[in-house]
Amino acid sequence: MMWWLSRYSDEGSAHTGPVSEVDKKPGVVWFRRDLRLEDNPAWAAATAAHDEIVAVFVIEPRLMNAAGEFRRDQLLAHLHALDDELRARGGGLVVRSGPAATAVPRLIGECEASAVYLNADVTPFSTARDQAIGESVTVPVHAFDGLTVHEPGAVLTKKGTLSQVFSPFYKTWSTTHRTPWPSDGAGRSVTIPGEPIPDPQGPVRQAPGETAAWDRLTAWLEVVDDYPDLRDLPAVDGTSNLSADLKFGTLAARTVADVIGIETPGRQAFVRQIAWRDWWAHTLALHPDLPNVALKARYDGIAWRDDPHGFERWCTGRTGYPIVDAGMRQLTQTGWMHNRVRMICASFLVKDLLIDWRKGERFFRHHLVDADIAQNAGNWQWVAGTGPDAAPYFRVFNPTSQAIKFDPDGDYVRTWVPELAHLRAPGIHEPSAADSADLQAAGITLEETYPLPIVDHSQARLRTLETYKRALK
Ligand SMILES: Cc1cc2nc3c(=O)[nH]c(=O)nc-3n(C[C@H](O)[C@H](O)[C@H](O)COP(=O)(O)OP(=O)(O)OC[C@H]3O[C@@H](n4cnc5c(N)ncnc54)[C@H](O)[C@@H]3O)c2cc1C
Repeated sequence: MMWWLSRYSDEGSAHTGPVSEVDKKPGVVWFRRDLRLEDNPAWAAATAAHDEIVAVFVIEPRLMNAAGEFRRDQLLAHLHALDDELRARGGGLVVRSGPAATAVPRLIGECEASAVYLNADVTPFSTARDQAIGESVTVPVHAFDGLTVHEPGAVLTKKGTLSQVFSPFYKTWSTTHRTPWPSDGAGRSVTIPGEPIPDPQGPVRQAPGETAAWDRLTAWLEVVDDYPDLRDLPAVDGTSNLSADLKFGTLAARTVADVIGIETPGRQAFVRQIAWRDWWAHTLALHPDLPNVALKARYDGIAWRDDPHGFERWCTGRTGYPIVDAGMRQLTQTGWMHNRVRMICASFLVKDLLIDWRKGERFFRHHLVDADIAQNAGNWQWVAGTGPDAAPYFRVFNPTSQAIKFDPDGDYVRTWVPELAHLRAPGIHEPSAADSADLQAAGITLEETYPLPIVDHSQARLRTLETYKRALK
């Protein structure tokens, strides 16, 4: 039993584990963040237990309103692809819109289903929703863990607690026995009337569906050994780009970890990141308020600055720090940002502008195609120094030296901040320090074609250290 599911297992309405005899009544598989048929424990268990499966996805207004255009369109494209997969198995995806707490019980009644199958999530929204549904339906709800490699709560210290430091967590994670997933049975997809799946409104970032996701995974397998050398270079295509597949579940994290394996240092470095993902999921399951409250409570007293102008400049990529502006523009123009640059941009908001990390977390969450509350809030708290295993608060990224180190030729900045394209590296990373002849030759007029820095990094650093120190007294 997953630890958070025990919260809604009263009166036997939520169940886990194998289901034995084949049922003549249909089973409902409620898809959420597991938009695949392969390596999907909820789907597998349903096909083993029922002749007929009604596959449903509920388009919840709350989730759709929270999603930026890239995430919304990627989701819709994945739903079309899942529908195609299910049609090939005789049925299709039944789409309903509205709150799931109403739509799911209604669907169960309409198709006279005898059970519901789902893969559980750890966000506060989904646990509350699942709890409400578990309590309101009369059929069993079989919940599985298809989200992580090890289900949240499975990787604990000898004392039964969650390690507050990642390395020991990873050590235990690497040797923890996995709960086996059920195997597919012979049940087939059937359909009942639903709503048409809306079409994406713009170009979709990645080819949709699990087959395309598998293609991305197998292509990554060819180059994963270069990961340690290339992963920090935002100008290079040196990371897997699998985060959105893990977010939507077109690939299972378990599958990704198994396919990559740990035979070489590159593979080990990659799988370690998948373990970070598990760690943040464990953390959110234990601390549902991760997006709202500093996990190190003493940091809650930081006197954040109210700076709408600075925040607006950060959001729109006009801070005068080219690496930050490049990252924020990559985010808003594509729905994705390189990990190293996510760290630099987040650090700039928190430590240079002294703006509350929660504001940045919300902005990222809206725009990221891979937005995942556990990963996003966990990483924001890590950057702010308020979360577990975070760097000490007095370690403050210098955006310019980070840029010179990780974008040495300036190509990343050149791509996203085209008005600086004609400046050479390393000067491209600090246009305000370039001499006027170079600026003129590159067609740049500071404050007209590109802003001066909105804050002086060294002064901002001192201000942050003072403010943090005061909060920690
Ligand atoms: C401020 C901030 C916010 C972030 N928000 C998110 C988010 O909302 N969703 C999200 O999936 N990742 C988030 N990350 C983590 C990381 O930036 C992305 O997972 C990564 O950039 C995705 O690209 P990739 O798949 O090519 O990564 P790769 O480098 O190829 O990594 C492989 C996988 O490992 C996992 N991973 C890698 N780095 C991390 C990490 N630091 N923490 C947790 N998991 C990681 C991801 O699932 C990723 O897909 C955030 C990082 C920061 C610093």
